[in-house]
Amino acid sequence: MKIRLASTLQSDSVVDGLGIRTVIWTQGCAHACPGCHNKQTHNFDGGVEFELEDIKKEISNLVGQTGITFSGGDPLYQIEAVIELAKYIKTLNMDIWLYTGFTYEEVLKMPLGKDLLNSIDIMVDGKYELAKRSLDAPFRGSTNQRIIDCKKTVLEGKLVLVDDLMKKRNTQPLFQKPEGIFI
Ligand code: SF4
Repeated sequence: MKIRLASTLQSDSVVDGLGIRTVIWTQGCAHACPGCHNKQTHNFDGGVEFELEDIKKEISNLVGQTGITFSGGDPLYQIEAVIELAKYIKTLNMDIWLYTGFTYEEVLKMPLGKDLLNSIDIMVDGKYELAKRSLDAPFRGSTNQRIIDCKKTVLEGKLVLVDDLMKKRNTQPLFQKPEGIFI
């Protein structure tokens, strides 16, 4: 299986989830949020396709990373490949964050939505809403987005937010653009 990415893997991010993280910037997004900072990731024919096996090898060689973050673009346009990678990442005992423009409720309706929630730790959901942009919301671009604890959500059968992070005030820059972008 292949995955289309917007850039090479980006290590040592501290703004795409807790800890020191490697970001997988997926290519392709149709949400068209006004004010999007990553427009170069929208084109579904852009970026470069990689074999999942090659990405797995790269992840297995990472050093000093707390976990992996899927961002983009929107990773859920390639949900099958994301789930396969997430299952592999779990064998390495790394935690997984995922950013999507879809809401949790929309993800639940996707054929593989529940599999996805079972495969990752944290999902930050919803479109970027310029009118709700906040400099005070860590790990979120706008306050409509929710930081969801996927493990607890699956266990309790209802949406569970990471309350500490939802209430926390930001001390980090809001966005970190992909480096080494292909286009
Ligand atoms: S979901 Fe993300 S990448 Fe897609 S348009 Fe919205 S902000 Fe941009």
